[in-house]
Amino acid sequence: MPELPEVEVVRRGLHEHVAGRTVDAVEVLHPRAIRRHLAGAADFALRLTGQRLDAARRRGKYLWVDLSGGDAMLAHLGMSGQMLVQPVGAPDEKHLRVRLRFTDGGPELRFVDQRTFGGLALADLVEVDGTRLPRQVAHIARDPMDPAFDPVAAVAALRGRRTEVKRALLDQTLVSGVGNIYADEALWRARLHGLRPADKLTRAKAAELLAHATQVMYEALGEGGTSFDALYVNVNGQSGYFDRSLAVYGREDEPCRRCGTAIRREPFMNRSSYSCPRCQPRPRG
Ligand SMILES: [Zn+2]
Repeated sequence: MPELPEVEVVRRGLHEHVAGRTVDAVEVLHPRAIRRHLAGAADFALRLTGQRLDAARRRGKYLWVDLSGGDAMLAHLGMSGQMLVQPVGAPDEKHLRVRLRFTDGGPELRFVDQRTFGGLALADLVEVDGTRLPRQVAHIARDPMDPAFDPVAAVAALRGRRTEVKRALLDQTLVSGVGNIYADEALWRARLHGLRPADKLTRAKAAELLAHATQVMYEALGEGGTSFDALYVNVNGQSGYFDRSLAVYGREDEPCRRCGTAIRREPFMNRSSYSCPRCQPRPRG
């Protein structure tokens, strides 16, 4: 599952390669990739053809491209979705689902998705707090990389939840974009176990945790590079360029980088949580 830094890399790639270009033809090779566009593949193709793709935007892990007609093309990357820019005539990828050709005859945009959990859809834009967002994204909070992110409000929202801190951190309506990997990394940096009650954190500790989450995502983005090739590998989940820098995630039984204690893995919402038993003691009771 791509996390926020990976989605940001995709957004930058789209912005660089397709913004300002007009769609000449749309080819849907697998209807499942368009299932979120309820009017169907033919409607999707008809409405998109002739439109100019404008700015590529993101809210949390949601990604879309503004269209000249006033709506937007929303992209769900799902587990394995990739947006690729390929020269016209390049061999089709095995899991190519949607192809957009442009009037300039330049490289085409391809949506490739091995597991077909992702997809594309056209979306109306609605105004939320002075920002135009696809209707499906309207409930998603700003992420820490958003220039208009309000850290004071985010700390208050986090401490206002009577739940475990990791669950609160993953709640996309409080703060968006923090996924399982970066939540574990931020909790380790803040020396907090994810089961600690969010409403019992001091304001300073909650602020520290959010600052760590922000920092770890910026570091991941910094290592991600901005080339579309790097993104191909990364969004596919095969390379994981940030793996080398992770302190706890995926490091069960390996030594804590701070104290040397073996990292533990615990089940968490059908996934896993990784933490250091010594730096991040479980809450009592
Ligand atoms: Zn430790």
